[in-house]
Amino acid sequence: MFENLSDKLELVFKKLRGQGVMTEDNIKDALREVRLVLLEADVNFKVVKEFVEKVRVRAVGTQVLQSLSPGQQVVKIVHDELVSLMGGDEDNSLDLAAKPPVAIMMVGLQGAGKTTSCGKLARHLKSQRRNPLLVPADVYRPAAIEQLQTLGRQLGIETYASKSDQDPVVICRDAVKYAELNGFDTVILDTAGRHQIDDFLMSELVRIRDEIDPREILFVADAMTGQEAVNVASGFNERLAISGVVLTKLDGDAKGGAALSIKAVCGKPVKFVGLGEKLDALEVFHADRLVSRILG
Ligand code: GDP
Repeated sequence: MFENLSDKLELVFKKLRGQGVMTEDNIKDALREVRLVLLEADVNFKVVKEFVEKVRVRAVGTQVLQSLSPGQQVVKIVHDELVSLMGGDEDNSLDLAAKPPVAIMMVGLQGAGKTTSCGKLARHLKSQRRNPLLVPADVYRPAAIEQLQTLGRQLGIETYASKSDQDPVVICRDAVKYAELNGFDTVILDTAGRHQIDDFLMSELVRIRDEIDPREILFVADAMTGQEAVNVASGFNERLAISGVVLTKLDGDAKGGAALSIKAVCGKPVKFVGLGEKLDALEVFHADRLVSRILG
């Protein structure tokens, strides 16, 4: 049977209720459970180690309350510390306050959900009365351009007429000019992905960034890739200085610990989460929701 962290800690602290303080000794087993829950949720092991140490320091010496069980007290500490690690209630909204057209560049590995997220984001922006232009700039994956055009048609949002024999940098530059001339206030650039980070891809993305100077560079991460997501995010962040993350496929089994790791390691906020294949399955990120999901 699957138990959540609260149930597990109730068992660990069975004997401690209503007496004394939490000590190194009586909290040891509880911290082991916390560590396991985080590792099972795909939080990177280094992040887990530092985090558990923080919880230990905060918990040891804490008076055991009459009103809460020791287990509940530890869960509360863990919950609060995780929310604070994720940036608490800091504003995760997009920074689009600039002279239009404002560019949002979407980057990530192939299959992460970039193209789908471009469509979802365009829909989200349209609902906020913005006028986005979708720009396919992946000229390598067959059908990537059509895929975005199809999404655009479904949404009633224009897709720039990129050609697969053009240089992606030229596509993006021309698309921004087109947006300016035709009254679009936002351009969403759907860039190419690969199965892994390589130099060719990265230099192309750097060239696009340098040419366009996008207001946001969103790294699209597949929550199902777990611990690996943080390495990939670091690679993209080092080369491109991303501004935020879209964590996709949180409708699956993944608990989303990757979000914690990416924030802890790269210091970049998760701005949106993807919760399905449909175009309305995008939510603005809330730290407390993700933390509740991780703790079960
Ligand atoms: P790209 O190669 O990064 O552009 O990835 P795509 O946008 O083509 O997405 C790859 C697959 O993941 C497609 O089958 C999408 O429908 C699916 N996908 C994207 N986002 C989500 C999501 O949030 N949840 C689920 N379940 N599937 C998603």
